[in-house]
Amino acid sequence: MSSTEYVIAPPAVVSLPVAGGGRYPVRRIFCVGRNYLEHIRELGNDEREPPVFFMKPTDSIVQDGGIVPYPPGTQNLHYELELVMALKSGGYRISPEQALDHVFGYAIGLDMTKRDVQKTLAGKSQPWELGKAFEHATPCGPVYPVEQVGHIESGRIHLTVNGETKQDSDISHLIWKLPEIIANLSLHYRLQAGDLILTGTPHGVGPVVAGDAMVGEIAGLGRLAVAVGTPE
Ligand code: MN
Repeated sequence: MSSTEYVIAPPAVVSLPVAGGGRYPVRRIFCVGRNYLEHIRELGNDEREPPVFFMKPTDSIVQDGGIVPYPPGTQNLHYELELVMALKSGGYRISPEQALDHVFGYAIGLDMTKRDVQKTLAGKSQPWELGKAFEHATPCGPVYPVEQVGHIESGRIHLTVNGETKQDSDISHLIWKLPEIIANLSLHYRLQAGDLILTGTPHGVGPVVAGDAMVGEIAGLGRLAVAVGTPE
């Protein structure tokens, strides 16, 4: 066996379909928390604190039309509908003025959250991975290239569960706007092509159970439909 031969099969590249053709390979998934004021208030967090960053595993992505099996270890699985930025380039210390030049396109994402687990861990000042970074935790729709849809500064963001509206807000209510998110994150990471950034959820988060149908929409980006399944 040559030294370059893998001793186990390498993992498949995780990718998203691109509206208009091709696939977008996903490198990392960054998330912004606490980036809409009404959502900070509904969870009882300090509205003077700046937004926070965390990450989710790339292979937690669920494709549009897919299923999120109800995950173990929670009694309170929540949806969080979010605008997703998909980068085509990156770097350290990106200026807000040049930040959007690094965006390939936009998508609709769900930051699925074990709210009970997240709150317990955060309350003990422990990392909240178990509440955020689990299997099937990141449904994401097709990527819409900037050349098709432009950059997104406003527009309705709307989620239904079984046809009933649960989240209904506007992208313009983001606390950190998209260029600020990229600029701030690039102070900590050398951002790269393939990086996704979930930009935070508006108010209206709540629980789902097996059998529920979630449909997220963001103006210009189509819709993301995902169902909650029975536990694996
Ligand atoms: Mn979130």
